[in-house]
Amino acid sequence: MLTLEGATFRQGDFTLTADWTLERGTRVALIGPSGAGKSTLLQGIGGYIPAATGRVLWDGHDLALLSPGKRPVTMLFQDQNLFPHMSVADNIGLGLSPDLRLSAGDQTAVERSMARTGLDGLAKRRPADLSGGQQGRVALARALLRARPILMLDEPFSALGPGLKAEMLTLVAEVARETSATLLMVTHDPHDARALTPLMSLVANGTAARPEATGMLLDDPPPALRDYLG
Ligand code: ADP
Ligand code: MG
Repeated sequence: MLTLEGATFRQGDFTLTADWTLERGTRVALIGPSGAGKSTLLQGIGGYIPAATGRVLWDGHDLALLSPGKRPVTMLFQDQNLFPHMSVADNIGLGLSPDLRLSAGDQTAVERSMARTGLDGLAKRRPADLSGGQQGRVALARALLRARPILMLDEPFSALGPGLKAEMLTLVAEVARETSATLLMVTHDPHDARALTPLMSLVANGTAARPEATGMLLDDPPPALRDYLG
């Protein structure tokens, strides 16, 4: 269970507040205007920004003293966090071990994760020699391997065309299900939220609102969401 207990996160003069709980395995979209604090919230949960007040807890344990790498979190950014000088297999293996000292069992797990995400035969390629969709698959293969309890996506597929994006989001849902992950996903697209995330949090006016049923929120949006959706 992820708990944001009166948590506030600051960036310069900006403050974002959240006060709610998510059961394990829940899927939530974060939606709201540019600059409203969606990335700030994810960075706060991921440990890149400390809570100025309140607490972030996982299963009742305060995460304040855990650095990002020690948190029960995998975060996918827009650039997919791929290292250009490393092969596909090594980029994925980083999910298990930052120094890439992989046991035979680890190597097998990397291969299995590549097969699962449709990357067979691409182990030795560099990210630059992959398509955008394949790069997304590498990031998801690494997330699958890490199998952390919280999976966070900050618009990772917004550069892809609609068909490829839909394919990636289907894979995200499968990775989240297979790892029983709690999913938080920033999106600009209400259709993505309807398809993938039963819950939605509106981020606006300095608050990430308590998540509500996506369909109900989109069918009868409060003023801030209505303004955003246009
Ligand atoms: P979103 O992801 O919803 O577009 P962000 O969380 O990136 O919004 O940004 C929220 C607010 O925080 C922005 O309005 C911006 O002014 C402020 N902000 C973001 N990053 C920084 C920073 N590094 N230093 C100061 N202020 C920042
Ligand atoms: Mg952002």
